[in-house]
Amino acid sequence: MPEDRTLEGKTLWEQALPLLKERMGPATYDGVLKQSVPLSYDGEVFVLGVPNEFSANMLSNQHRPLIQASLEELAHQPVSLVMEVKPVAVAPEQPEEEQRPVSVERPAAPVRARAGGVLNPRYNFENFVVADCNRFAHAAAVQVARSPGPAYNPLFIHSKVGLGKTHLMQAIGHRVLQRNPDARVLYISAELFVNELISAIRDNRTASFRAKYRHVDVMLMDDIQFIATINSQTSEEEFFHTFNAIYESDKQLVIACDAPPRQLQTLSPRVRSRLEAGIVADLRCPNVETRIAILEKKAQADGVKLDREVLEYVAEKIESNIRVLEGALLKICAVASLDGVQPSLSVVEEIIADYSTSGVDRHIGVEDIVAHVSAQMDTPEPAILGPKRSKQIVWPRQVAIYLTRELTDLSLIEIGRHFGGRDHSTVLHAYNKVSELIVEDEKVMWMINNFKSGLQQP
Ligand code: ADP
Ligand code: MG
Repeated sequence: MPEDRTLEGKTLWEQALPLLKERMGPATYDGVLKQSVPLSYDGEVFVLGVPNEFSANMLSNQHRPLIQASLEELAHQPVSLVMEVKPVAVAPEQPEEEQRPVSVERPAAPVRARAGGVLNPRYNFENFVVADCNRFAHAAAVQVARSPGPAYNPLFIHSKVGLGKTHLMQAIGHRVLQRNPDARVLYISAELFVNELISAIRDNRTASFRAKYRHVDVMLMDDIQFIATINSQTSEEEFFHTFNAIYESDKQLVIACDAPPRQLQTLSPRVRSRLEAGIVADLRCPNVETRIAILEKKAQADGVKLDREVLEYVAEKIESNIRVLEGALLKICAVASLDGVQPSLSVVEEIIADYSTSGVDRHIGVEDIVAHVSAQMDTPEPAILGPKRSKQIVWPRQVAIYLTRELTDLSLIEIGRHFGGRDHSTVLHAYNKVSELIVEDEKVMWMINNFKSGLQQP
């Protein structure tokens, strides 16, 4: 083995260590990784010397795909990871900053939870484009889906908005249910969790609330920054106990958030340290090749053919956020379907002229949406916002609610308030209804696309 390759291996490992420290949790990092050394790397096979047999087994059985993904991300090419037992001198331990929390209560007999109620069928692994920006998170998600339970618990996925957290987390749900249709998989946003908690307390139903949330096989909790921002002791406590109940029974937790655990300063240290005790996976902005690949995949999934140069143009223009990227694609598809031709580059340039390179969306309000739906679906605005539940009115209302959830930052509660004081569960029902129809019925998909692009017109 040439000397420089060995050096390269060292550099690679040195670069990987801080990433792995952040991602793999203190037990694995301090216990094993810190004491491991790179033995060789020939540009393909990376041999890692680990301190003992136990560590070698643990790393091979559980963590190999994750370490490998991290190495590949840095090497920008496939890496095959081999473990070799090689005792090394150990550096003195750094003292731990925080105490590990103690476990709290034991769950009672299991109760069946809702299975995969609101999983978006498109958010699966097959539709997810894997690249360096998400390789680690993807590997972790695949592992969790393969063997949910104590090995990677919790899996904490964080990124800025629109980079695939919800997609990955729901992909886990789909895969778990594919492998075991009886698995109790529960996907819920932290906001809905808190809302349901509030109603449960109000109606003296906390026992059934707990039965529902604590006895699951896989809990997928999305956007937990909500719990950090509302600053409610009750919600945080309930979250903590829910977390513990699931964790202690060796069931899987997957958590998504817009920031890494250490940045959630408003949460108590005991909650924060629980959150970072498992695997912490980040998603970063995709580079231009990845953005092109994502657009290609989406266009393909929608059955739309677009020129490569169009895809490249859009991918170059919109850098920051995959959701915005998709919005632009929808807009282009909508125009293409109206005109019945493949849009030329100049038309595309015009269509996405209002997307700045930072990908900031135009601000759209509920009023705009209601007015647009009212005009397009020939239903008076007061009817959309009013109490009537006749069929002709319910559908436009559901469409307007769907668009509001997609195009604004309003919470379910706020949307309910705008739509005549409706309950958040009604809002969610409307949203799910339309989401399902978009998948099932092409006419609905095109209608929604047209509405979206109409609303996003400057
Ligand atoms: P987040 O939850 O981080 O805000 P989402 O999971 O909602 O982001 O993703 C935003 C959109 O981008 C979704 O439509 C999702 O399907 C898409 N997306 C994100 N990452 C990928 C990827 N790697 N491959 C394909 N689509 C992706
Ligand atoms: Mg999300």
